Amino acid sequence: MSFNSLGLSDALLKAISKKGYTAPSPIQQKAIPPILEGKDVLASAQTGTGKTAGFTLPILQLLSQGQHLRQRPVRALILTPTRELAAQIFANIKEYSEFLDLRSAVIFGGVNQKPQAAQIRQGLDILVATPGRLIDLQNQGLISLAKVEILVLDEADRMLDMGFVRDIERIIKVLPSKRQNLMFSATFSKDIKKLAMGILHHPVHVEATPENTTVDAIIQKVYPVAKQKKTELIIKLITEGNWKQILVFTRTKQGANKLCESMISAGIKAAAIHGNKGQGARTKALAGFKNGSLTALVATDIAARGLDIPLLPHVVNFELPNIPEDYVHRIGRTGRAGASGEAISLVSPDETTFLRDIEKLVGLKLPKENIKGFEPDPNASTEPIKQGQGRPQRNSTPKKPKTDSTNRSSNNSFGPRRPNTNNDRRSNR
Ligand code: AMP
Repeated sequence: MSFNSLGLSDALLKAISKKGYTAPSPIQQKAIPPILEGKDVLASAQTGTGKTAGFTLPILQLLSQGQHLRQRPVRALILTPTRELAAQIFANIKEYSEFLDLRSAVIFGGVNQKPQAAQIRQGLDILVATPGRLIDLQNQGLISLAKVEILVLDEADRMLDMGFVRDIERIIKVLPSKRQNLMFSATFSKDIKKLAMGILHHPVHVEATPENTTVDAIIQKVYPVAKQKKTELIIKLITEGNWKQILVFTRTKQGANKLCESMISAGIKAAAIHGNKGQGARTKALAGFKNGSLTALVATDIAARGLDIPLLPHVVNFELPNIPEDYVHRIGRTGRAGASGEAISLVSPDETTFLRDIEKLVGLKLPKENIKGFEPDPNASTEPIKQGQGRPQRNSTPKKPKTDSTNRSSNNSFGPRRPNTNNDRRSNR
């Protein structure tokens, strides 16, 4: 299939070709036609599948065909959970709308609101926003959402995890009731389905990868390792493997800082990215990582959410996530847009339960490789990490996962199993 056959305008096709895209990704093939028809869409797609173009291209087309109002009220509102994701979507919109007469802006917290308010005053067609700052500006009477025709909730699962459900409800209350709604989520818990039912009207369901599965092109491995040897091991992997670009995940902000310091002491150019870092530091770290001046970016789950780093060859789980779905999100940073990648998890004995939960979710037994000198002590305590550091309580006994001798993820889908939102579990990220 080609972009031409999707019914996109010449101005958009020109921008797409300038980006170097030759064919639409599966989510784009499935989402663009119903969005152009004005339908509500509920899409299961994670970052890395091309979902941003999947909704922004048809929105740009619809808005450019629609009536331009002289004062340019916001006609499309895109809500995202994190600042980085908002900034990335905005950057994409800028590129895709290069040959269109449409104005867009991005607003998020952590930075001065004045330039944002000034941009809004000048008139906009598309606004990308994180919920908190949007509500702030709205409460101050600096923005009207009364003319919104299209609402996008991107990474809806993460919005719920981050406790944005009330904010979303408040925002929806001030939108016109007649509008087109698009919702994207990588996972589908009961809470997400409930949210979708309250917002979407007869949505068309589209799916890029089956729920809670990992992308085929990612080679996944587990290195069992003694907890106290993890730092030494990751430094060895990076230096001896001559890795140039590696994204590393820790469970906590403190853990990210500590690892980053150890890497720097070992001569690895590294930066940490997490919720305690100011926006300036986060943007700088991401830019350095993208342009190659940093080798390693050490991130917590929330900070890394939605980061668009094309062709990332290595993702390392320095610590396994306590929420199994985060594993899928994390390793989705590699194997982007069809390229292959490697996702390595350093698993200490106290993380065995996390590993078992992840394997159950992805329907795959992750292959283990021992590295000489780093193996955990067979007598080490396998006492699981305590709640609050913190793994959700589960009542069920996980089933035995399927094995996959090919070393790659399968497309088997397990039912969603995200527990109820519990912000405590994420408060230290
Ligand atoms: P996303 O899932 O929207 O974050 O996109 C992931 C990456 O894929 C981004 O770097 C996009 O620029 C890229 N991308 C999106 N659509 C295509 C396409 N049709 N062909 C090649 N790359 C694409």
